[in-house]
Amino acid sequence: MPNLPDAKLFIDGELRDAASGKTYDIIGPWTGQPVGKAADAGAVDVEAAIVAARRAFDETDWSTAHDKRLELVKKYRELFERHKDRLVQLAVQEAGAAQGAVQRAHVHMALDGWDDYIRVFPQVKWEHEYPKREAFGSMHRRFAVYEPVGVVGAITPWNVPLYVNIGKVVAALLAGCTVILKPAPNTPGMGAIFGELANEAGFPKGVINVVFGQDPVLAGEMLVTDPRVDLISFTGSTGVGKRIMEQGAKTLKRVFLELGGKSAKIVLEDAPNFAQEVAQTMLVFHAGQGCAVQSRLLVPRSRYEEAKQILKHAYQSYGDSWGDQNDPQHIMGPVISQRQMERVMSYIELGSQEGATLLHGGQARPDKGGGYFIEPTVFVDVTNDMRIAQEEIFGPVLVVIPFEDDEDAIRIANESAYGLSGGVSSGDQERAMRVARRIRTGSVSVNGGMCIAGDIPFGGYKASGIGREWGLEGIEEFLETKIIAVAA
Ligand code: NAD
Repeated sequence: MPNLPDAKLFIDGELRDAASGKTYDIIGPWTGQPVGKAADAGAVDVEAAIVAARRAFDETDWSTAHDKRLELVKKYRELFERHKDRLVQLAVQEAGAAQGAVQRAHVHMALDGWDDYIRVFPQVKWEHEYPKREAFGSMHRRFAVYEPVGVVGAITPWNVPLYVNIGKVVAALLAGCTVILKPAPNTPGMGAIFGELANEAGFPKGVINVVFGQDPVLAGEMLVTDPRVDLISFTGSTGVGKRIMEQGAKTLKRVFLELGGKSAKIVLEDAPNFAQEVAQTMLVFHAGQGCAVQSRLLVPRSRYEEAKQILKHAYQSYGDSWGDQNDPQHIMGPVISQRQMERVMSYIELGSQEGATLLHGGQARPDKGGGYFIEPTVFVDVTNDMRIAQEEIFGPVLVVIPFEDDEDAIRIANESAYGLSGGVSSGDQERAMRVARRIRTGSVSVNGGMCIAGDIPFGGYKASGIGREWGLEGIEEFLETKIIAVAA
């Protein structure tokens, strides 16, 4: 039975149905059944959102009222706190988050990230004076003025929707931009709530707009190609990221891209808790649907057989402690959709065809319910050139690759189109740091170090993206630099 409130568009300060009156069903990943209804925005609605955001940027003091913005963003944050139960419900029902996972990236950590943005905001530099300089016989004073870039199109995915929506919307608002949030078709409710609470927080009309629809492309592509939108902040797949760069080129759009990953965790042979390091790489959190998950495990060949035994035991002990919507301990639920399930299952089939050994899992689990359940799965005897080692599966599938020595581990980790994250474990921290410095990714965890938090930047090298989100850098992504020089 559908039980989520209807997800409405928010355009120019008004909660709205689509102009066409059309809606679509939000399909719950746990059941494969509708859990709510969402407005199905068409071109008319997206156009109205662009007009509203443009006007709010060009014709109000939003872009220069730094203190007012901070105050409203704080108020907005309080309202989200009050609606935490709803956020949890949305994470569980729309995105398929398990109860034990909402504390992490889904809700609590996302709201903590918002607090971090508020904390770093006073460090944003709005003006800077360079030393005076002589030119053509007179002296010149030179200032840099940092100004918001303008209208932002924020296009987000379904996997951790609140986290990504906050990452973009809050930073853009603090920077002084106006925003059109375009959440993924599967998770419109987690976008709609930004509209629902915007008026109560007191935002001027047009500063925040939210549009979504069943068509995954229409609204996003309108934002990407429209000259009135100044910047696209996108999180999603690398394929769509490339398309956005191409399409955005026509209007020389500024693009910020957070894309996919195939991050490697390297466990060196001297890791003090070798068994624990190997076992905890089990890819189960949110059914592996995280961009920065460590989905390639690299272990020394000298301990490869031991690692296999450790993993076999770990997966067997994990058993069936996943996939129950009501169990607060579970951190793994279904994958998002039928389509995603088919995609992941096709990779599992491919792994066997490529000659890897399926150590555990590999089956769809209809006994868990009518939704999209796939067992925690691990492949061993994997070589780094296999497609299952190179392509982002975005499901609960770990691949385990042997290496000869540190150089070989670094080579394997770096032989990837992606460059988002990774990890190194060793009893010798200096050695681990030496390896970490040579990994070509936006973040690396050493001996379990946590490299994701709202006060530090996050982003990717290579095909994992361009630019940084979160922290001071995350706000500065939305600023332009203007130089004003005054002849003294
Ligand atoms: P996706 O790329 O299919 O869609 C992302 C968003 O883009 C959705 O809102 C979608 O409607 C929209 N979109 C699709 N086609 C578009 C187009 N041509 N123009 C404009 N917008 C378009 O990704 P997804 O399936 O929703 O999410 C999974 C992917 O996101 C994975 O690859 C994952 O790695 C990535 N991801 C990356 C990060 C990160 O920070 N690097 C974080 C979360 C997810």
